[in-house]
Amino acid sequence: MLTNDQLSQWDRDTFFHPSTHLAQHARGESANRIIKTASGVYIEDRDGNRMLDAFAGLYCVNVGYGRPEIAEAIADQAKELAYYHSYVGHGTEASITLAKMVVDRAPANMSKVYFGLGGSDANETNIKLVWYINNVLGRPQKKKIISRWRGYHGSGLITGSLTGLGLFHAKFDLPLAGILHTEAPYYYRRPDLNMSEADFTAHCASELEAMIEREGADTIAAFIAEPLLGTGGIVPPPAGYWAAIQPILKKHDIILIADEVVTGFGRLGTMFGSAHYDIEPDIITIAKGLTSAYAPLSGSIISDKLWKVLEEGTDTYGPFGHGWTYSAHPIGAAAGVANLKLIDSLGLVDNAGITGAYLNTTMEAALADHPHVGEVRGEGMLCSVELVRDRDTRTFFDAGDKFAARVVAAMLKRGVIARAMPQGDIIGFAPPLCLTKSEADTIVSATVDALNEVSA
Ligand code: PLP
Repeated sequence: MLTNDQLSQWDRDTFFHPSTHLAQHARGESANRIIKTASGVYIEDRDGNRMLDAFAGLYCVNVGYGRPEIAEAIADQAKELAYYHSYVGHGTEASITLAKMVVDRAPANMSKVYFGLGGSDANETNIKLVWYINNVLGRPQKKKIISRWRGYHGSGLITGSLTGLGLFHAKFDLPLAGILHTEAPYYYRRPDLNMSEADFTAHCASELEAMIEREGADTIAAFIAEPLLGTGGIVPPPAGYWAAIQPILKKHDIILIADEVVTGFGRLGTMFGSAHYDIEPDIITIAKGLTSAYAPLSGSIISDKLWKVLEEGTDTYGPFGHGWTYSAHPIGAAAGVANLKLIDSLGLVDNAGITGAYLNTTMEAALADHPHVGEVRGEGMLCSVELVRDRDTRTFFDAGDKFAARVVAAMLKRGVIARAMPQGDIIGFAPPLCLTKSEADTIVSATVDALNEVSA
């Protein structure tokens, strides 16, 4: 067996890690943590450290680690048929079954699903679909896409442009032209502290409408948004947000893409986040929870109305020129089928609602009086803690203090993995949906202890 030293050396010498400070990593100044095995909500590294993964990998291992049902489905599929493509009408039992299961679970107006590999490529597909649709409808100038500051939609060229976080733009010449960003629905960081929540919702809506009018509604094709801001800080929308935004989109004939890569398949305590917030999207992006990350697979769920335009387009212009070699990969599809069955049989959507609420209320109660906690917020099995220098004046820490990162490091020493979100001092929690109340207690007490240690 290879030694840890050998692997660490190879890692630094050859492995280009995503979202990593490359120079520090190469110099050995940051950890290279080599994960070996996992079960339930716990992962274990090669040094034998066992950690409660309160972020489910990258909020994706929704059913928890080490599920034999999914592992066996993958192995069986690999033995029977590791691969066949899905071009020109080909399919497999797994990919067709999964399509049926996804559409059965989706909102009633959704009728088809296209399968990709990850959330980024699914959103890339979505933008191509929107452009294609507007070309077929004879309105080629209606192509711009509105996203939100702090939204996260991937890190490709188009999807990194849609993402509204500086880290994903700087030095990459992004965002590309034609991608616009409107106000983040982030009440805690409202521009004026005197604004009520209702006023802030109205402000978000009027900012959006002003942008549409400024650019011309005939140039705006789509609005893309997560039901609840994820990577931008785990921020539930202000009250009434979706009820205020959707009529504006309808009025200007703008397609709504709900990016449910995080919220799809139960994380908010409903099968889709759209149901939780009464959102009626035209397209839904899915990934992570579709297979609980046991294999890479994503999807774009399309409304019946848009599907009719796509069909019409191919009658006029010929076959739809889009697809990946690995679209609807049978191994991913087999993982997806087993995963969705498990979500149902274990009642994980309900557990996300119940135990998620417990995690949020326990966290809130434990940190209510902490001088460096500005806000505890969340929904379902998502929770975040916003850390501030001074909670009364809402003064944030300097970025250089790396306050949240230090708290997360102190939590790791206590055997709990949380995530320092990329922009601001925000600690994020997104445990597997199978979390128990006693595991939630472990997360909360590690957070309190770590925060006290770093604050001192
Ligand atoms: N959309 C959302 C809402 C996400 O949170 C993510 C990833 O975290 C993506 C898209 C991109 O997915 P992927 O990393 O699989 O490309």
